Amino acid sequence: MITLEKRPSLTTADPTGELLPVMEHFYTLQGEGVYTGAAAYFIRLGGCDVGCVWCDVKDSWPIDTHPVFSIAEIVATVLATKAKIVVVTGGEPLMHPLGALTEALLAVGIRTHIETSGAGTMSGTWSWVTCSPKKFKPAQDEVLFAADELKMVVYHKSDLAWATSFVPKLKPNAVLLLQPEWSKRDEMLPLIIDFVQQNPEWRVSLQTHKWIGIE
Ligand code: SF4
Repeated sequence: MITLEKRPSLTTADPTGELLPVMEHFYTLQGEGVYTGAAAYFIRLGGCDVGCVWCDVKDSWPIDTHPVFSIAEIVATVLATKAKIVVVTGGEPLMHPLGALTEALLAVGIRTHIETSGAGTMSGTWSWVTCSPKKFKPAQDEVLFAADELKMVVYHKSDLAWATSFVPKLKPNAVLLLQPEWSKRDEMLPLIIDFVQQNPEWRVSLQTHKWIGIE
């Protein structure tokens, strides 16, 4: 990240959204969902209060342990690459107001994608919204209705029925995705494949970046 000045950590989200804690950022390929295979710049914001037991990015949970960047610094960093898509993820990115960041990215021709559990207040102007509800903190209806894709992580077979409970809260053309939780993939994938064959409005989503060994 191009850093213009050293700043103290944030202890809570900046209400203006001008300063954001960034746990990590990298230019890679989107590994999941409808945009699988597309080049994308990932920005992982610090802060998550959802508490999934199987979370593979627990270091993202605190807000105050990550370097703090301005929107200008984030945009300059993205523009130093050929990225046309920025994926804002976390942590739970909706712990932060994201209007200013998304407007700045859109102003320079970058698509704005978000990956959220939905357990936060909707903010920002998004080209693509991925909502992945978790059992540990409920997704908000406004986020579910904004979702372009619903991506359900399947950790237990009962998650398949739970996934269908969200469909009435989505807009009609939202893409429905079932993704095996990585550590349970051998157990859950056959169940998901069978479910999708019986319920073809759903699709399988795989964490292809993990299968092919990229970040
Ligand atoms: S919402 Fe995401 S970052 Fe937060 S605990 Fe769950 S998996 Fe981890």
